Amino acid sequence: MKTIGIIGGMSYESSIHYYERINKQVNQIAGGLTCAKLLIYNVNFGEIRELMLENKWEEIGVILADIAKTLEKAGADYIVIATNTMHKLADFIQDKINIPIIHIADCVADKCKENKVVNVGLLGTKYTMIEDFLVNRLKQNGIEVTTPKNIEQINEIDRIIFDELCKGEIKNISREYYKNVIRQMIEEDGIEGVILGCTEIEMLIKESDLDIPIFDTTQSHIDSIVDYSLEKKLIKK
Ligand code: GLU
Repeated sequence: MKTIGIIGGMSYESSIHYYERINKQVNQIAGGLTCAKLLIYNVNFGEIRELMLENKWEEIGVILADIAKTLEKAGADYIVIATNTMHKLADFIQDKINIPIIHIADCVADKCKENKVVNVGLLGTKYTMIEDFLVNRLKQNGIEVTTPKNIEQINEIDRIIFDELCKGEIKNISREYYKNVIRQMIEEDGIEGVILGCTEIEMLIKESDLDIPIFDTTQSHIDSIVDYSLEKKLIKK
């Protein structure tokens, strides 16, 4: 069994799901009292969020790369960045370590392709929706990606993530907001599925809320992490 190194805490609400489901799924497959060998380095997300708001991405990169190095030294065989947004820094972090990062976009792209859905909408933080770090990685995997075009929608989706979901607050009004944005992308862009490209959105939107399939980055990431942990799959280099 391989040892997983998780950079968590962004937010801790979603890291709870990583911890719980990785262990549960490993146990379901391996049986007995088996659980995952894993290390979690939980950041203080308050500090990281301040740096995000000040646009100090280099500083965040240095902090996260140091954490990845710490996890490597502590015995991790591979690194998991338990947030989509921080994959903005995935290449920077990868350059500083000798073990692979399991990229969240590769995991969710595999799920889309398994389900033969390649034309998808992407919801996430404004960084994830406006910038190209996740979109390009998905495109490299053969996925066509549509993001909301209206800046007010982008800001509101982002606000709901940081003001509500990262604090564990689930509101019907926010669920309806997300559903309306998705409906609009179905009507205007013909999307056939939607990627929940932020690790907290799965707390708000479920498959039963929509008429099209959802591809949740948290669960897709976890499924791959479990396969790599049990060496059912080899890590793509
Ligand atoms: N967990 C979120 C994500 O998947 C947002 C928090 C962050 O900025 O890292 O993007």
